[in-house]
Amino acid sequence: MPVIFAVSLLNTMSLFIASLNSGSNGNCYYIGNNNEAVLVDAGLSCREIEKRMKRLGLIMNKVKAIFVSHEHSDHIFGIPVLSKKHQIPVYITPRTLQSSRLSIEKHLIVPFAASVPVNIGALTVKAFIKFHDADDPHSFSVTCNGVMVGIFTDIGRICEPLINHFRECNAAFLEANYDEQMLAAGGYPRHLKNRISGGNGHLSNSLALQLFNAYRPPFMTHLLLSHLSKNNNEPQLVHNLFKQYSGNVEIVVASRYQESPVYEIKNPVEVVSVPPSRPQKALQLSIF
Ligand SMILES: [Zn+2]
Ligand SMILES: [Zn+2]
Repeated sequence: MPVIFAVSLLNTMSLFIASLNSGSNGNCYYIGNNNEAVLVDAGLSCREIEKRMKRLGLIMNKVKAIFVSHEHSDHIFGIPVLSKKHQIPVYITPRTLQSSRLSIEKHLIVPFAASVPVNIGALTVKAFIKFHDADDPHSFSVTCNGVMVGIFTDIGRICEPLINHFRECNAAFLEANYDEQMLAAGGYPRHLKNRISGGNGHLSNSLALQLFNAYRPPFMTHLLLSHLSKNNNEPQLVHNLFKQYSGNVEIVVASRYQESPVYEIKNPVEVVSVPPSRPQKALQLSIF
């Protein structure tokens, strides 16, 4: 009869994630394992990205790709210098490349398409189309050894692919852009308010909370609330809102001024069957 062991969590199975900045002044998200990493967007200067990664102990040599969600400058500003200096391939759709007018060395441009997985070493990155007022906007998931992290910002509405990805995530960067009352009562002109809340702009706190409450999987450990509006949101307000419902999920508000800590996202405990002759390092569990 096979003996069943609980395999202790090795950090080789984990993903390490951080927001280097999050908001309309610049977005850059780091997702990696022990050997390789990707950045989703690079809306800070190359210098600032280098500085913040260094402070976090993250190594640029491990970054094997930059994935571009859409052409707004808060997502692409640092790409030309960063990709050129460190010779990092930039994964970008042809339409986003065209509308961004980015100048990227030709050999570093790699097109991607929704639903076609891209392997970066042991990481698998999958893109899907989102609603946002850009030419060809995409959200991403990054998977490694059964751990999935979602990067879901700049989303006008909750759509089916977002739900399907969110319910698979161990951790997610999820946009909570604005408090509906603050936006309505604030001083933005009508057309801008409509742009933000009209279904092709940004996700409100309450819509983000609806998604979280309805579709978060039992194995989700971290939720990083992202892309908060400077004028129509308050970090403490949205943190308190989610905290009431979060249970065991750690709620983090990604700052628009500084990098977050690095979070280790672990594979849920795996129970595997191994032959009895194998050295019994791990804790043995009863199968009954
Ligand atoms: Zn943005
Ligand atoms: Zn945008």
